[in-house]
Parts: sequence; C-alpha cells; structure tokens
Amino acid sequence: MEKIGLYGGTFAPPHLGHVHAARAFLRAIPVDRLLVMPTFQPPHKAKAAGDTPEVRLEMCRAAFAGIPGVEVSDYEITKADVSYTVQTLRHLTAENREIYMLCGTDMFLTLEKWYQAEEIFRLAKIVCMSRTTEKEQEIAETHARYLRKFGQDCILLKEDPLEVSSTRIREAIRKGQSLAAYVPAEVEAILRRDGLYKGTES
Ligand code: ATP
Repeated sequence: MEKIGLYGGTFAPPHLGHVHAARAFLRAIPVDRLLVMPTFQPPHKAKAAGDTPEVRLEMCRAAFAGIPGVEVSDYEITKADVSYTVQTLRHLTAENREIYMLCGTDMFLTLEKWYQAEEIFRLAKIVCMSRTTEKEQEIAETHARYLRKFGQDCILLKEDPLEVSSTRIREAIRKGQSLAAYVPAEVEAILRRDGLYKGTES
C-alpha cells in the first residue's frame, strides 16, 4: 500500500519553519512522498492578502524544490472552492493509500474542532511537529485525549522547533525588515518581484 504524507496550509508565504517541519517528517516517517498542498482561498480573501492561489503555489514549489520526496500539489487550488481537509483525505484514500497528515502545534491542538474531525482521524494518521518550545503540556494532554476520544495514538515528532510564522514574515515585509532568516532566497525573490503582503492586514 502506498504511504503518503499530507502537509496542507495557506502558505502565505511558505517559510523555513515549513521546510524544517517537512524535513523532520521525512526523517521520521517512511512515506513514499509528502504532498505539500496549499489551500485555495476565495478571491476576496486573496485580494485582501495581496496574493493569489497561483503565486502561493509557485512559492511552495520554490520553497520545497530541493527536498527529495516532497511533491507540491495543486489539487485544492485547482478545485477553486473552499476545501475541507476531510474531502481531500477522502480523495486521497479512494486509492487504497495510507495517509500521514503533518500539522504544526496550532493545528494539532484545534484538530478536534475541524469539520468532521472523527472521519479525519479515521482516514489519516496525525503527525504533529512542534512550532514552539512552549505548550508541551498542552500537546501531551491533547495527545492523550485524542487517544481516548478517537482511538488514535498520534505521532509527535521529537525535533527542536523552528519558530517562524507567515504572520511574522508579513509583518517583517510591512516594516521593511530583512527576510533572510525566515524564507528561502527563491521565495524572497518572488515576494519582492510581486510586492506581496505590503498592505495592512484586514
Ligand atoms: P499564519 O502565521 O499566516 O497563520 P503559518 O505560519 O501558521 O501561517 P500555515 O500555512 O497556516 O502557516 O501553516 C501550514 C501548516 O504548517 C500548519 O499545520 C502549521 O501548524 C504548520 N506550521 C507553520 N509554521 C510551522 C513551524 N514553524 N514549524 C512547524 N509547523 C509549522
């Protein structure tokens, strides 16, 4: 059976924290490939952010280009509709695949509130990569609760976090600060080419 990793997100923009998490995932989980899948955003939201689904896809391709085993997928963006994770998982598992879904701390802690969470836990093995050295206790409690509630012993990756967020990067862009510590050079070039995320956040 094919083993697939799924790493979904807005990726506005993709950053070194995402790349670090993907590498940590690939070191720990023997998947055939890891799909990085940017979500579609309705046009009005994209307009507010100053980006488009296509440029987020392009930035993801640039950010993950050098990592063997990673494939950037346009599946949700091509559907051009708001996608629920559960729908993407149904699509991926239609072909007898085992899915490992990678998420950071924030997503892991809120997963039980996602649309049709029970089915998400049935369709995918959840893999959590810490985004911060804090919240260890909360992660441990949530891990134990998911085991009781959904019968799943989620995988917690044991690697040091890289504390970067897209929000922080958009803020640095507005302040005209250097992005070198946050994003790969190829992503920075696209951000500058298109003048992305310079406006105030709505
Ligand atoms: P924003 O700041 O706009 O909310 P973000 O940095 O959280 O963006 P997303 O595209 O929303 O980035 O995240 C996609 C996935 O990557 C989520 O599962 C998120 O938890 C995870 N993630 C984001 N940053 C990191 C990081 N530094 N380390 C590990 N996982 C991360």
